[in-house]
Amino acid sequence: MTFKNLKLIPSILRVLKEENYKNPTPIQAKSIPFILNGEDILGSAQTGTGKTAVFAIPIIQHLSNHQRNLNGKQKILSLVITPTRELAIQIGESFKIYGKYTNVNNTVIFGGVKQRSQTNILKRGVDILVATPGRLLDLIEQGYISLQDIKYFVLDEADRMLDMGFINDIKKILAKLPRNRQSLFFSA
Ligand code: AMP
Repeated sequence: MTFKNLKLIPSILRVLKEENYKNPTPIQAKSIPFILNGEDILGSAQTGTGKTAVFAIPIIQHLSNHQRNLNGKQKILSLVITPTRELAIQIGESFKIYGKYTNVNNTVIFGGVKQRSQTNILKRGVDILVATPGRLLDLIEQGYISLQDIKYFVLDEADRMLDMGFINDIKKILAKLPRNRQSLFFSA
């Protein structure tokens, strides 16, 4: 199995070549075709298996075909929830790398820091938002974020999220998502 067999767009294949990724990891080979096909998945994968690319690459590919509304504000089309600030930052970096030859952009929000620089970026508009649950709900309540246009939703490290007591936050977030969306859940 090669990345070409996965029918990835040239702008993504170019990055993978530059990053020296020779072949998809097992979870990538198995899951990427389903995700590109619009199906929901529940993946069992630890960090280190190439899990981030499993969701990041298809989401970038979906969004790179998306027509931008040039008049109105850019809407958030994809949301990734992850339990910690460190994971959120790592995922944001991965989206930046895999999407570097596309026009798809992302930002990362997490608690424990002032919100100002985060809200400034949100006001300008992003395609993909990577967030920890508490800060996400906080900024939704303050009106900086709307989830009503989300088409691709990722719940990363779901097991850890439950261990950390985020169940109620996750329920609140799920209730704000549109029904018609693709959901990708990952758990170790
Ligand atoms: P992750 O499990 O997403 O945290 O990824 C672990 C590491 O593997 C990261 O440094 C990725 O850049 C790298 N990686 C992901 N997919 C591949 C691949 N197909 N070939 C080589 N390295 C990869």
